[in-house]
Amino acid sequence: MNCPVCKDEALGLIKHENQQLHRCISCSGLLISTNDFIELQKENDRHLSTLLTKPEKTSKKNKDSRKCPSCGKTMKCTDYEWDSNIEIEVCEDCSLIWLDGGEMAAIHEHLKKEHPELIESELEHETKKFFNWVKYLLSKAGEITPRIG
Ligand SMILES: [Zn+2]
Ligand SMILES: [Zn+2]
Repeated sequence: MNCPVCKDEALGLIKHENQQLHRCISCSGLLISTNDFIELQKENDRHLSTLLTKPEKTSKKNKDSRKCPSCGKTMKCTDYEWDSNIEIEVCEDCSLIWLDGGEMAAIHEHLKKEHPELIESELEHETKKFFNWVKYLLSKAGEITPRIG
């Protein structure tokens, strides 16, 4: 699978036990399964209902030509939550989410800023767990292996 941004760059597979994500070494973009991403949303219906159901939007950043690395279809551009201005790409067919480099950090900041009430809550715990998981996988640089196809 190639990076939808860099096109010619193959995504690296980062694995730990039965968990995995893909990353582009050039642009730091991340490809994550919807299920893993929803770990972020756990215990919070508002997040769950807005993440993937928000109507498609026209990207402000010319991201609308991004193609799913797995099936090649144009990914749906949507805002993370209603007002975050963090544009993420979703392929509903493959249950994959593409985050540009820096967007994972931006989502973390957004949650911290916009949902301070979640601190110490179960969601905050799950959110930390999720971010720690991503950070952990990314830190295992030695296991990044280029994938062809
Ligand atoms: Zn890239
Ligand atoms: Zn797809």
